[in-house]
Amino acid sequence: MSKPIIRIGVSACLLGENVRYDGGHRRNSYVTETLAEHFELVPVCPESELGMGVPRETVDLEGDISAPQMIGTHTRKDWTQSMNCWALNKIQDLAPLALCGFVMKKGSPSCGVYRVPVIQENGESLPEGRGLFAQAYMRANPEIPVEDELRLEDPLVQAEFQAKVMALHQSRQK
Ligand code: SF4
Repeated sequence: MSKPIIRIGVSACLLGENVRYDGGHRRNSYVTETLAEHFELVPVCPESELGMGVPRETVDLEGDISAPQMIGTHTRKDWTQSMNCWALNKIQDLAPLALCGFVMKKGSPSCGVYRVPVIQENGESLPEGRGLFAQAYMRANPEIPVEDELRLEDPLVQAEFQAKVMALHQSRQK
């Protein structure tokens, strides 16, 4: 019997795609070797897919921790609305793939899940935010396990993540 196809979304830079602001990648061997053995990996790069370019200016999150603005570091270009709109469309486009999990790049103003810095009016940077795409994705899909690459360095977190992915896949077969 052929193996079922179980799909996981992945921040594209973790797969070795050269989509980062500096034209590089952050290939992650747990993703490209271990997860790729068991799951079909679906790359997503919010910033390059939105059309911000590669290479591109870095962006920062600013303001309200729960609904921050995405602002160009030097030009002060405001990407917030276009990124939030793009994220909602992308989430719809991904729905037919029935992703059972998502691995996001740590610390990114688009993909970061935990402790993304959000700059306050007084210049202080609070490590309490979430990237705009990660935020939108998790709000729209609360049942889908989402992890970041940093936490997935821990074998216990790896095992728990893979178990949750399998459990979600199985629950959808009923
Ligand atoms: S962290 Fe997200 S937005 Fe940044 S390069 Fe990787 S996939 Fe693209």
